[in-house]
Amino acid sequence: MKSENMKETCIRMIEERGCKIADIVEIVYDLQKKYIPDLDLATCIDAVDRVLGKREVQYAVFTGVELDYLAENEKLREPLQSLVNSDNPLFGIDEILVLSICNLYGSIGLTNFGYVDKVKPGIIGKLDKIGKETGFCHTFLDDIIGAIAAAAASSVAHNAQD
Ligand code: MG
Repeated sequence: MKSENMKETCIRMIEERGCKIADIVEIVYDLQKKYIPDLDLATCIDAVDRVLGKREVQYAVFTGVELDYLAENEKLREPLQSLVNSDNPLFGIDEILVLSICNLYGSIGLTNFGYVDKVKPGIIGKLDKIGKETGFCHTFLDDIIGAIAAAAASSVAHNAQD
């Protein structure tokens, strides 16, 4: 598959699971607005787009979103099926999977991810709630979105510094 198709597939997979790219942009904007008063939305849109163009990100999306989908459809074998479908807090592989995304633009990405993971702003909180109240499984998706937002925010921060 060509790299532009990989990016498009990655975006489609995220959107099919209920998260718009604009939702991720919103988190990036909120994360950086307090540090960069004249920040504009176009800068955040560009940063998210660049993150989605990275192979590390695309591979994490293909893997994580697929596992959520399979768990939701009872297609995984035990014990993984129950661990993923119940979003077991001790599982932790969802957070590990996205470390390669967090580290794209330096260690500030990990700090941003920790913050987003705890506060669950915007779409991340919504997906978490939907996952708990319905049959949808967002065990990997929330971390993927958090990590993409964290990496994009780090990129914005580094560019603002230069
Ligand atoms: Mg998770």
